[in-house]
Amino acid sequence: MSETASRGVVPEGIHHVTMIAGDPQRNVDFYAGVLGMRLVKKTINFDDPGTYHLYYGDETGTPGTLLTFFPWPHARRGREGAGQFNVVSLAVPSESLGWWVQRLVQSGVEHEPLATRFGERLLAFRDPDGLRVELVGSSAAERVPGWSGGPVPAEHAIRGVHAVTLWSDSSAATFAMLENSFGMTRVGTEQGVTRWRASSPVDDRVGTLIDVRDVSGFWEGAMGAGTVHHVAWRVPDDASELALRERILAAGLGATPVIDRKYFHSVYFREPSRSLFEIATDVPGFAVDEPLATLGESLVLPPWLESERERITAALPPIHHPSTADARFGELEARA
Ligand code: ZN
Repeated sequence: MSETASRGVVPEGIHHVTMIAGDPQRNVDFYAGVLGMRLVKKTINFDDPGTYHLYYGDETGTPGTLLTFFPWPHARRGREGAGQFNVVSLAVPSESLGWWVQRLVQSGVEHEPLATRFGERLLAFRDPDGLRVELVGSSAAERVPGWSGGPVPAEHAIRGVHAVTLWSDSSAATFAMLENSFGMTRVGTEQGVTRWRASSPVDDRVGTLIDVRDVSGFWEGAMGAGTVHHVAWRVPDDASELALRERILAAGLGATPVIDRKYFHSVYFREPSRSLFEIATDVPGFAVDEPLATLGESLVLPPWLESERERITAALPPIHHPSTADARFGELEARA
């Protein structure tokens, strides 16, 4: 038994990253259009049924590939600062970075010059709400097939989340939490950023990294459009989730009870620099309420709100899919 395994259950990598956005159509146009991710679930915010919750990922919405957004049309811009995740890095094959530079230029997205961090080439830009996004050339990405049904050719497609960057003003305490409660391994430090790797059972899996930037003395971040709401870490099942929750409670960090999010079960807690972490189960997944072939095409509601579908739909701003499958999508919407 490895040292990590003997310490008990720890997360196996990133499950999803959830952000706040402004206009929902602009969000779909950017993530499903320019970046070519699959809209795998179009549902509502269970805690605020008048607004959407949009999920993007790979073909099946595999944990580790998921970006989710609460698009609030009139949301104020957030402010980057301490206690927040401020960069979302996405994995692409290294040879695809040149193609992506062209894609961004053609789409009118300003980008920074290609850079290198922890030995990996990366392309940095901001999404329409100002969130920092990076495409990172990753060796793990090369071993995962890309989605062939989107506007980006499969060979260049985003393979999943590569890393998230947390700005911590209490980095020693954050490190202790990552090491002791999450069983993570310190990879190294470069230019004030310390990289940690989750203990994945699969070698070289996409989405196992957290970069912690030490921002001691920096102002506190404010939630709003263009900021990360939380990052979820994956565990295989409910038993692992409960065991990890116990570990977190034992470390003196509070945690919520398990909450049913329909596609996964969740526990939330704040790490020492106050950013919000979630633990989410790999099961049951996204095919639980619609077929894989048509994921994300119609509005899905939780059973307890199904009787209010007409009222909810009328209150939501209409959104349409930007991909080449536009016509087919429109048809399905009309039939729904
Ligand atoms: Zn979440």
